[in-house]
Amino acid sequence: MNKKYDYLIVGAGLYGAVFAYEAKKAGKTCLVIDKRRHIAGNIYTYECEGINVHQYGAHIFHTNNRQVWNYVNQFAEFNRYTNSPVANYNGEIYNLPFNMNTFNKMWGVITPQQAAEKIEQQRKEAGITEPENLEEQAISLVGTDIYEKLIKGYTQKQWGRPCNELPSFIIKRLPVRFTYDNNYFNALYQGIPVGGYTNMVKNMLEGTEIKLGVDYLENREELNKIAEKIVYTGPVDEYFGYCLGALQYRSVRFETETLDMDNYQGNAVVNYTDAETPYTRIIEHKHFEFGTQPKTIISREYSAEWKQGDEPYYPVNDDANGALYAKYKELADKEANVIFGGRLGEYKYYDMDKVIEVALDVAAKELCK
Ligand code: UDP
Repeated sequence: MNKKYDYLIVGAGLYGAVFAYEAKKAGKTCLVIDKRRHIAGNIYTYECEGINVHQYGAHIFHTNNRQVWNYVNQFAEFNRYTNSPVANYNGEIYNLPFNMNTFNKMWGVITPQQAAEKIEQQRKEAGITEPENLEEQAISLVGTDIYEKLIKGYTQKQWGRPCNELPSFIIKRLPVRFTYDNNYFNALYQGIPVGGYTNMVKNMLEGTEIKLGVDYLENREELNKIAEKIVYTGPVDEYFGYCLGALQYRSVRFETETLDMDNYQGNAVVNYTDAETPYTRIIEHKHFEFGTQPKTIISREYSAEWKQGDEPYYPVNDDANGALYAKYKELADKEANVIFGGRLGEYKYYDMDKVIEVALDVAAKELCK
């Protein structure tokens, strides 16, 4: 007997929306469900005081992949926002990512050669040759002073683990530049969708049936009956009832406030890099879109270890979790009618562009069958 839908897509975030769009284009029928009462997953934005608020944390679209850039531009117009966060270390202000402006403020150095010498000297003093963890990687890239003031406290707050127990790839996400360039990303294309991410995802899901407030895992038996195949974008360990143990995630809590002033901090993102300030950063949402509203909305971001019932945000991609995920992946590969995708489904610290790239790739293979 033919089932009602070709695909049941669990999760209305970016991965689910890309898959749904591609499936619709290929003439397939899909139902998209989400346990939340809104679409767009963690890139969801809502409007308040004329400002698009990033409810689940700031998202800045950036990519080197022209195909992905063209793809998202079908669904939204992107503005020219360039991310240039500022670090506040006990009242001292530094530019990020680590670049000549940072080095000049930290050491008074003027030329790239002077900056490189300073870093090399600090790396030697720390005795690092082959960096084996985030701490050693950071010191070898930018020296001890920057590590102590701009990395150590922030990273330990964000990950709840000491830097020498974290994998070095996390810090390699950030560029280190010997030019006076505060662009946080090395991407060719960058911007924020005008009108917010929710609208962009809404356009992707145009013409696809959506049911919100539906928990797949609670209604698995009935829901499996209505579709030939499942695209599952929730946490992979939860799908299997945590039968091998729980993977670790970091969660984030936001304290969002509307302020009766037009400009609170003069930048969209200010990182608090000392260990004592309890939040990691403050986001001032209007600056993502050059807002001129009379009020402003800020979110203080607090990082916490995920526990059941919280929203998972970041997979903790260390060795122990990597090994556990590998076992879940074996189980996932045996689920013949289920595709696992996205940050939670694949337990990977994906950026948005990578999610789209992978979803397009999987959809292309799946839909030509
Ligand atoms: N990081 C840091 N100080 C900063 C900003 C970032 O030490 O002011 C480190 C930290 O370890 C963080 C990593 O760089 O986990 C990656 O930062 P990114 O901004 O890419 O994190 P995301 O935006 O995904 O939260």
